[in-house]
Amino acid sequence: MGAIASALQDVRRRIVTACAEAGRDPAEVRLLAVSKTFPTAAVREAWAAGQRAFGENYVREALAKQAELADLPIEWHYIGPLQSNKTRPVAEHFAWVHGVDRLRIAERLSAQRPAALPDLQVCVQVNVGDETSKQGVAPAEALVLASAVAALPRLRLRGFMTIPRPSPDPAAQRAQFRVLRELLRSARAAGLDLDTLSMGMSQDVEAAIREGATIVRVGTAIFGRRD
Ligand SMILES: *Cc1c(COP(=O)(O)O)cnc(C)c1O
Repeated sequence: MGAIASALQDVRRRIVTACAEAGRDPAEVRLLAVSKTFPTAAVREAWAAGQRAFGENYVREALAKQAELADLPIEWHYIGPLQSNKTRPVAEHFAWVHGVDRLRIAERLSAQRPAALPDLQVCVQVNVGDETSKQGVAPAEALVLASAVAALPRLRLRGFMTIPRPSPDPAAQRAQFRVLRELLRSARAAGLDLDTLSMGMSQDVEAAIREGATIVRVGTAIFGRRD
């Protein structure tokens, strides 16, 4: 077995174990393999090992990889920061966008999503921990933004995404993920039909699953260290 196939197996085991400890069905947690900076050969190896959804952060890099991998029906997720001048290629070439943090971006994605494609699946990105980070809407503003995004055509709002402040302490990790879990609960109570919490990376998959993650985004633990 190759290194990537073996690492994937380890990550899947971590997910199954964390689900067992949380009393959750592992089928509720999808693994998104974050392939940014890694070559298409690495994506092919992960695909051969059964991985189907891949996440990318940089538009130009992603489009080049998608062209090289056009023979594989990969589900592509855009997880990087979105500037308004980059929304069109994202609307045209991805199935999911995880980082919507302002209405203007969502409006552009909605207008630019080709009619021939299924609705673009989106998550509102929430800043749960780091006051210095500019990415993500504040938790107090997330519901208003989510309601506005949910009303746009050609988009399907699925839930919330977060990149927490890194911490080695599982209790601190969970406290941040809990903010997102509470938001999902509030949004559902307000009538939004949402099913997704995109949270958890190589370091904190377990804490995220404990708090209800439905998509974990894992790069390093599958593909190795990035330069
Ligand atoms: C890079 C990245 C990941 C993967 O992080 P790892 O620590 O390598 O698992 C997940 N989510 C986002 C938004 C990223 O940019």
